Amino acid sequence: MSDPYPSSQGGAAVASPPAASTGDYYLPVGLPQPAPYPEGLAKEYWEATRRHELVVQRCDKCNVFQWGPEFLCYACHSWDLSYVQVSGRARIFSWERPWYPVHPALKEKLPYIVVLVELPDAGNVRMVGNLLGDPLQEVVIGAEVEAVFEDHNDVKTPFTLVQWRVV
Ligand SMILES: [Zn+2]
Repeated sequence: MSDPYPSSQGGAAVASPPAASTGDYYLPVGLPQPAPYPEGLAKEYWEATRRHELVVQRCDKCNVFQWGPEFLCYACHSWDLSYVQVSGRARIFSWERPWYPVHPALKEKLPYIVVLVELPDAGNVRMVGNLLGDPLQEVVIGAEVEAVFEDHNDVKTPFTLVQWRVV
């Protein structure tokens, strides 16, 4: 795909038209909407987020977790992968506070915080999301965070983003 703003959450992004929003979202509407890849990779992940469950891929043969979704285990090359539910607890591995709008929709929402978190109960795989709360808050590497499920129901194909909040 040639979308210049690929999703950071393991799925291919599709452009979403600006829509009147009734939701209370961390980032404004108008950003590309995440979706599973056309082949279905990451479909189970996005379905789980709608149920407010966080799932991660794990190899049925060697039990290694991996993220983002792949067709093949990159530890043992098995094709047998499953999604397993994890706690949604994580810790901040890295972060940034963008001050420049990399997408026109972000002009009204600066700065904001992007975090890369590690999931201790999933082999420390890392996921990207936003850190909820004050965009000027102090961010501490190693701080414990929990997943927050941000439902976007006011679009043609509703979806749920996984965001993070300090506990
Ligand atoms: Zn494996």
